[in-house]
Amino acid sequence: EARANSTNVRLYTPVAESLADNQRTLLETLEIALQRGELQLFYQPKLNTVYRSLAGAEALMRWQTADGAFISPAEFIPVAEANEIIRPLTWWAIKSAIARLARWPEDLSIAVNIAPTLLLDDQIVAVVGDALDIYGVTPKRLMLEVTERIMVGDTETMLGQLGRLRLIGVQVSLDDFGTGYSSLSYFRDLPVDEIKIDGSFVHNMLECGKDHAIVKAIIDLAHNFSLKVVAEGVETEPVFERLKELGCDVVQGYFLDRPLSAKDFEASYGIHRAGVGEKQPLKDHPLM
Ligand code: C2E
Ligand code: MG
Ligand code: MG
Ligand code: MG
Repeated sequence: EARANSTNVRLYTPVAESLADNQRTLLETLEIALQRGELQLFYQPKLNTVYRSLAGAEALMRWQTADGAFISPAEFIPVAEANEIIRPLTWWAIKSAIARLARWPEDLSIAVNIAPTLLLDDQIVAVVGDALDIYGVTPKRLMLEVTERIMVGDTETMLGQLGRLRLIGVQVSLDDFGTGYSSLSYFRDLPVDEIKIDGSFVHNMLECGKDHAIVKAIIDLAHNFSLKVVAEGVETEPVFERLKELGCDVVQGYFLDRPLSAKDFEASYGIHRAGVGEKQPLKDHPLM
């Protein structure tokens, strides 16, 4: 019995240490990457279903290493979120997105993902407010995507900060809705403008009756609370058509476009620095 235990300990310790080592290395490289400007925001279009017009984009972080390879945010964001570095990373993302908004037509918005812990940071309201001032961007064009994880921990502080951000005019979207700790009583008082249905319900909604029922229920719930509803992970035209029939306001997914570099996004959607207010139709787009 005792021998078996000690064997287990010997087996597990090296694994745990190498994991910690990997994360430490990742963090150190990430810090250097941030300083060297190896991080970029890619932009994935969000499309209004009714007019088939561009509503804006979600900014998704991309880390391109010196050898040209991309490291997925699914890999480095969770590590960053468990460490201090998520703070400079997010301040950078907020400022870059706002700088980008200053070059885009007034009717387009950009959404930035915000880790729950940053809503405990007193600086966030000033970081957002100052950047909007400096670039002269209308606050409602910036959307902050938060997840239901804000319902865990110091919820009162986090909801208070969201309230303050909304007071300066910024919009808030509840991301990955349906996968976290949603409680309908919280939902009643939630300071958000938009609900984003998680892609895991959307992907197979035409094959899976239960997913379809969940998507429909979230759309109806959001509308009953006068909230806008967005579906992420829209991969096919039939799914897009059904979401439109169900009254979903905005869609996002590979069927419409993948996340694109700023340059490619601006080229695809006819956005020019000098072209503010003279937006081109979305020609050559699958929906046009
Ligand atoms: P998210 O905020 O839920 O973003 C949506 C993810 O789904 C993105 O993955 C996007 O590329 C992917 N996606 C878009 N359309 C489709 C589709 O049709 N099918 C499928 N299967 N996937 C689709 P990505 O870019 O790898 O980002 C993963 C997650 O990393 C994000 O999930 C978000 O939680 C986090 N993240 C990304 N950028 C940032 C950031 O700047 N800050 C923070 N805190 N988190 C970020
Ligand atoms: Mg998001
Ligand atoms: Mg999401
Ligand atoms: Mg998601």
